[in-house]
Amino acid sequence: MKDDFTIGLDLGGTQVRAALVRAGKVLSRTAVRTDVSGPDVVMRQFGALVEEVSQAAGGAPIRAVGMCAPGPLDTVSGIIDHIPTLPGWEQFPLRDRLSEIFGLPAIVENDGIAAAFGEWQHGAARGLDHLVYVTVSTGIGGGVVVDGRLMHGARGMGGHVGHFTLVGEGPVCSCGRVGCFEAVAAGTAFGKRARAAAAGNPRSYLGRIAARETVEGRHAVEGARAGDASCLALVAEEADLLGSGFASLLHLYSPQMIVMGGGVSVAFDLLEPGIRARIRKDAMAPFREVPVVPAMLGDDAGLVGVADLALIKQG
Ligand SMILES: [Zn+2]
Repeated sequence: MKDDFTIGLDLGGTQVRAALVRAGKVLSRTAVRTDVSGPDVVMRQFGALVEEVSQAAGGAPIRAVGMCAPGPLDTVSGIIDHIPTLPGWEQFPLRDRLSEIFGLPAIVENDGIAAAFGEWQHGAARGLDHLVYVTVSTGIGGGVVVDGRLMHGARGMGGHVGHFTLVGEGPVCSCGRVGCFEAVAAGTAFGKRARAAAAGNPRSYLGRIAARETVEGRHAVEGARAGDASCLALVAEEADLLGSGFASLLHLYSPQMIVMGGGVSVAFDLLEPGIRARIRKDAMAPFREVPVVPAMLGDDAGLVGVADLALIKQG
């Protein structure tokens, strides 16, 4: 039922997180740094996190547990194929282990798809029938809602919106291919361009930062907010690449809206004009005015989405 308590879990490369969720609201949340020594230790970490967040239920029963994780994740079998950022998870039977540990019905879901569902049900895209959610952080992930349904594809592995070729030549992607949308437009690539700019001009805004710490994309955003011309150019380039990728997603899925989340979206206000300009140039006429908006649920989107999906699965 809609008002039941559910647990949402997020297996991330840097953090494992847990939340107690009811009716789309996070009632309690906690997180720790992901132990990289393998799944057995991480499952114990989740055990402790769940014990902590469950307190907020005040002894009321918890109906189900859902975990989202980076893909490729076979959500039909519940088995992780592998996680590029975490060694030791090859062929791990995640859903069955969750069920065993917590004694609850369990589901697993790709983190991008879970976040898309969260934003659709409780965030920026409420009430729509067609949307694309794109998270732009270390990588680019996301999920798609078409015809009022969350798109899963065979084995639940559809909607890898970061892995289509955007440029013929370019950096190698986390998936091993050259020139993916993720490889050129994710926060990692943005940071790399900021470091190159800093190295090219040590007396510049970013060059001075490089003398004391590693330059990241967020420094370019700070510089752009301060009016620095070279930082503004870096932000404009990032916006242009995002707009180019988004135009392809408009053509592929014809959403009513693109929702942008992830770490890079903190600069959404600065990026938006460049994203819009590129979409107007690249997209076919009927797609040019589709809104691109920032996500509303932030870091909670995946936790809320996967908790909801776990509940729906129980009927
Ligand atoms: Zn790729």
